[in-house]
Amino acid sequence: LTERLQNALSGLRRKGKVTDADLRETMREIRMALLEADVNFGVVKEFVRNVREKAAGAKVLDGLNPAQQIVSIVNDELTAMMGEAAVPLNKSAKIPTVIMMVGLQGAGKTTTAGKLALKLKTEENARPFMIAADVYRPAAIEQLTTLGEQIGVPVFELGTQVDPREIVKQGLAAAAEAKADYVFIDAAGRLQIDEALMQELVDVKEIAQPDEIMLVVDAMTGQNAVETAEGFDQRLDITGVTLTKLDGDTRGGAALSIRAVTGKPIKFVGQGEKMTDLDVFYPDRMASRILGMGDLLTLIEKAQKDFDEKEAEKQMEKMKSNTFDFNDFIAQLDQVQNMGPLEDILKMIPGMANNPALKNAKLDPKDMDRMKAIVYSMTPSERENPDLINPSRRRRLAAGSGRPIVEVNRMIKQFNEMKTMMSKMMNGNTAGMEQMMNA
Ligand code: GDP
Ligand code: MG
Repeated sequence: LTERLQNALSGLRRKGKVTDADLRETMREIRMALLEADVNFGVVKEFVRNVREKAAGAKVLDGLNPAQQIVSIVNDELTAMMGEAAVPLNKSAKIPTVIMMVGLQGAGKTTTAGKLALKLKTEENARPFMIAADVYRPAAIEQLTTLGEQIGVPVFELGTQVDPREIVKQGLAAAAEAKADYVFIDAAGRLQIDEALMQELVDVKEIAQPDEIMLVVDAMTGQNAVETAEGFDQRLDITGVTLTKLDGDTRGGAALSIRAVTGKPIKFVGQGEKMTDLDVFYPDRMASRILGMGDLLTLIEKAQKDFDEKEAEKQMEKMKSNTFDFNDFIAQLDQVQNMGPLEDILKMIPGMANNPALKNAKLDPKDMDRMKAIVYSMTPSERENPDLINPSRRRRLAAGSGRPIVEVNRMIKQFNEMKTMMSKMMNGNTAGMEQMMNA
């Protein structure tokens, strides 16, 4: 565990009794550590909620050794969210086992195929075989053949002018002839998911009937890894994930997010460029990596700063163009709830501390949740065009969110006031805001 977290926990230990405030403080540290480790925001929320519930259920508040209970609950929950144990490669009952490598360009598909082939060769004395089906990436075929030579694994290729579907068909026949027991299909990637790629991969899947569809994800892509994983899983129903480039300074939060969002197991992790730099994925080790790297204090500061900056930048643009809508409103509520009391944050903004408009600004977290419930009852077009929300729509929102109509009206009024205030600020003196963003 990190130093700061350790301090929070040893504080608890000394007291021998945990107060609500202690638990909140500890959970705040944990939440920040997770966010900084690039765990998806929704996943963090769910995680913190789970731990809170479990901590409360376990009567941590007046238990014998509450600090230890919290630590073990956090560890268990983190590990559980990534799957309890290491999940091995799928294997076919009769040879060959077909493994289709998919993922974005540069994620590490080709490298991982080589690493896995070498691993099977050395550990199981297996006879792997590789098919070069990425005809788009420059020099991809050459890369795979060079790799094959290096690790002593045959590579089937037909150059770049043949359709990948045809290459796979012929490659599988060649693999059968060679009596290979594992066939790796090094499929094409793209810089971003697009329909042409997905259709090609769906067709290749249909032809090859792979036992394993291994999605390769670059751990350094952080939050984007989740979208990537979701996109590939929706179309291809992936069976496993390899997380590459964990040898960098990434904290591996992508592992937690991918697992939570797709439900598919992470099977291997890439830890370097060498052919031997591949390890089985162990959820418990990843849990300590996510929680335990670096100096949490700096991380927390950085997490807050990055998060603020990006969101603030986006919302500044919105405010400037006066298109701030309910989606932005929700994003802002989330951000505020995540960072602590609104009053404190506002005070950090230069020139804001003494602003009379903020004298009575006090937002109860429960109020924010109620506001969110109302926004969640809105249709996408209502969120984007707040002006659409007429009286009959307000009644529907009240029914949908289970809040009284007066509250809906008040919320919309507050939203409009906020919007006006912001646009005034933006058109008046923006120095303070700019300064905040560059701080
Ligand atoms: P592909 O486009 O998905 O086939 O990606 P490649 O296999 O060509 O890998 C892209 C780059 O990432 C190459 O330079 C690899 O050496 C590098 N790479 C792949 N896996 C790892 C890893 O686990 N750690 C590090 N440091 N580099 C990796
Ligand atoms: Mg490749």
